Amino acid sequence: MRRTLLLLALLPLCAAAPPAAEIIGRPDAGCIIGARRLPDDAPGLQTIRASRSAFWGAPELLAALLELGRRAHAAGLPDLYVGDLSAPHGGPLAGGHVGHEIGLEADVWLDLAPHPLLPVAAREALEPPSLVRADGHDVDPARWTAAHVTLLRLAATLPGVDRIFVHPAIKRRLCLDATGDRSWLRLIRPWWGHSSHMHIRLRCPADQPRCAEGAPPPPGDGCDATLDWWFDQIDHPAPPAAPAGRPVLPAACRAVLGE
Ligand SMILES: [Zn+2]
Repeated sequence: MRRTLLLLALLPLCAAAPPAAEIIGRPDAGCIIGARRLPDDAPGLQTIRASRSAFWGAPELLAALLELGRRAHAAGLPDLYVGDLSAPHGGPLAGGHVGHEIGLEADVWLDLAPHPLLPVAAREALEPPSLVRADGHDVDPARWTAAHVTLLRLAATLPGVDRIFVHPAIKRRLCLDATGDRSWLRLIRPWWGHSSHMHIRLRCPADQPRCAEGAPPPPGDGCDATLDWWFDQIDHPAPPAAPAGRPVLPAACRAVLGE
C-alpha cells in the first residue's frame, strides 16, 4: 500500500519531466530541442545582463556550470557572473554573437571582485572589466591574480569540456603561471575578444548523433610558437579577410526555430 502511494505521488513528477534534449548541428549553425534554463542564482553563480542574454542549454551544460559554481565556491572564489548560453531553441543569438547555437557553450566572466548577491534587475547594467592590458600583450597586473589561474583550471577540468577560449594574453599568462599538472592548459585556447570572459564549449554528448563538433585541440599545452602567432598579429595585423558568410543551418532546425 505504501509503495502504491509512493508511486502515485511520483506520477505527477514523471508527467512533468521535460522532453529529452536533442542537439542538431554545430556550435555556429544549429539548434536544440528540450533545452533547460540556468537558474539566475545558484551556489557560486549569478546570471547578469538578463535582458541582453540567453541562459538556455543542454542538461550537460547546466550540470557543468552548476559544478563550476560549486567548485569555485569551495575554492573560496566569489560568485561567478554568467553571460550567454543559448536561446531557448538555440540558433543564432541576437546581437550577432557568434556560436552558442546548440546549448553546449557558455560565457563566464573572469571578474573575481567580490559579488554580493544583487536582485536580477540590479545586475542588468554590469560591465565586468577587461583583464588584458591595453596593448594586448599581457594581462593587466592590477587585475590578474592567482585566483584567475584557479578559476580557469577549475573550468578546464570540468567533465565534457571540449575547449575554453580566452584572450591570447590570458593564455600566455596561464602558460607562465600554471604549476603542477599542466595538462588542462591544452583545453585553454586563444581567441580574439575574451579579455573579460571565458567561453566554455562542451563536446557533443555521446547520445547526440546529430550534434557535430570539430577536431579536438592539438596535443600539448599550446604554450608554443602557435601562441606567438597571435601577438605577431597584434603588432602586424594581416589585411582583413573577406567575410566567410554564415554556415547553413541544418534543415531540421528551421522547424525548431520556427523559420
Ligand atoms: Zn561566447
